[in-house]
Amino acid sequence: MMGTIVQLKVYGKNAEQATKKALERISDIENKMSVNIETSEITKLNAKAGVSGEKLSVDTYSVIEKAVQYSKLTDGALDATIEPIVKLWGIGTDKERIPSKGEIEEKLKLVDYKDILLDKKKSTVQLKRTRQAIDLGAIAKGYTADEIKKVLLANKISSALINLGGNVFAIGSKPDGTSWNIGIQNPLDTRGQYIGTISVTDKSVVTSGNYERFFIVDGKRYHHIFDPKTGYPSEAGLISTTIVSDKSIDGDALSTSTYIMGLSKGLKLIESIKGVDAIFITKDKKVYVTPGLKDNFKMTNKEFTYEKR
Ligand code: ADP
Ligand code: MG
Repeated sequence: MMGTIVQLKVYGKNAEQATKKALERISDIENKMSVNIETSEITKLNAKAGVSGEKLSVDTYSVIEKAVQYSKLTDGALDATIEPIVKLWGIGTDKERIPSKGEIEEKLKLVDYKDILLDKKKSTVQLKRTRQAIDLGAIAKGYTADEIKKVLLANKISSALINLGGNVFAIGSKPDGTSWNIGIQNPLDTRGQYIGTISVTDKSVVTSGNYERFFIVDGKRYHHIFDPKTGYPSEAGLISTTIVSDKSIDGDALSTSTYIMGLSKGLKLIESIKGVDAIFITKDKKVYVTPGLKDNFKMTNKEFTYEKR
């Protein structure tokens, strides 16, 4: 689901029923927000770009609203109007290719979050110019993880581990009362190989990396996180950004945007937000951990160097 593998570990008497409800909720959100579903609210909104607004569900409206807030906070590193660039590169599809400079310049003109016109009273969103389009891929999974948590809690679950392809939410503690150990993926190795672990209860742990979706041409890796200022896959020196937070939508927005912002701006941003921590990995294998996690993070891979903040 949601273009990834969804894993739910749910503990307790009501686990089966709760899991069923959670899966229904994932479908519901996907059907509203996917750019790949023709009847989704996002597809309809995009089709009306430059013409009129689309009335949206509370779910879709609030995710777009959040995306715009994060665009402002990150000086446009996160930009939900990136869709024309995402589609042009087609990474992860059978149409993936390196576009020409001219094509990128052309599509880049359409990318500007300031053209997302929100009307909260009417719950409508309109894109200002024709051919503009929204893609919520950078934050929809975070929102979904938060909603799954709500569904599970409402169904009397107090211990669960949600994993939406790198968007992890550890709900409560493990059934035996101890904390969850979450592995931080080694961005240079195969899935399940970690550089270290953190131990958490009731936290979202979201990672963005250049290893999720990419293709390689002449030894160069082209991945799916785009810099809205250039229209190319972001090359700011980070190859993995992990955000630990209470809400997964914040973690998802911040992992994608700090990836684009790079190490120093990224650290500065995270350290300015209360209750949010980060683990950043640079392409020269240095690992940076913000103060709130430094006694928690345990490095297990000696190929990387640990730079404590
Ligand atoms: P993943 O899908 O691997 O969890 P992210 O949360 O980092 O990764 O989101 C990447 C997705 O977000 C891309 O596949 C694309 O749909 C979208 N995207 C890429 N660049 C941006 C950007 N600068 N701003 C907003 N969305 C983006
Ligand atoms: Mg993200």
